[in-house]
Amino acid sequence: MKIVAVLLAAGQGKRFGEKKQFIRLKGEPLFQYSLNTLNKLDFIDEIVLVLPQEDLGRINPPSFIPLKKVSGGKERQDSVYNALKSIQNADIVIVHDTARPFATEKMFTQSVENVKKGWDGSITAYPAKDTIKKVKNNQVLETIDRKNLYIIQTPQTFVFEKLLDAHEKAKKENFLGTDDASFMERAGYKITVNQGSVLNFKITTKEDLVLANCLVKKI
Ligand code: C5P
Repeated sequence: MKIVAVLLAAGQGKRFGEKKQFIRLKGEPLFQYSLNTLNKLDFIDEIVLVLPQEDLGRINPPSFIPLKKVSGGKERQDSVYNALKSIQNADIVIVHDTARPFATEKMFTQSVENVKKGWDGSITAYPAKDTIKKVKNNQVLETIDRKNLYIIQTPQTFVFEKLLDAHEKAKKENFLGTDDASFMERAGYKITVNQGSVLNFKITTKEDLVLANCLVKKI
């Protein structure tokens, strides 16, 4: 069984103000954290590191697992699609945002185990703890029942051929999604969840970076 991990590091950091995947945390670029975690997992056969076109030549990170570099696209889903198109004969594919440096080995392992058990996909998630409301123009419109709400993260793991199919369908229908599971759900595939964590947050703002710096000091 061939298992490939796609590591996304091709964002332009528009909201953040710079390419956050290259920011150094305790001396190491952010993307290297996810790469180091993957390198501790013996079931991964290949890593596809997706980078901005202009950085492909200069980024050559250390990795025991065979690593291939691929150029990213305009949107996150274009970057994933470019990676999928570069993969041959895979059975299972893991997609992970390098903007989440604190994803654990267990998250990767559990999501792969769920797919091996027969799910079409497994996504890292935890139940929402805060009350969630819909607000428009500063007016509260609605309180959403929290009971079935989950906060969704990466890694997200899928049957390779099914993810490729779901991406192709989304492309044909001009559907934009912020995670890969949304394409799978639309295509009718069955997705489950594996245990996520508040600590597996995505570095999106400068505040998140302050938190990340505090965390790496403790690790
Ligand atoms: O922008 P955002 O924080 O949602 O990006 C999530 C992840 O997707 C990041 O790791 C980022 O580098 C990656 N990404 C990408 N290609 C894009 C946009 C985002 O690989 N065009």
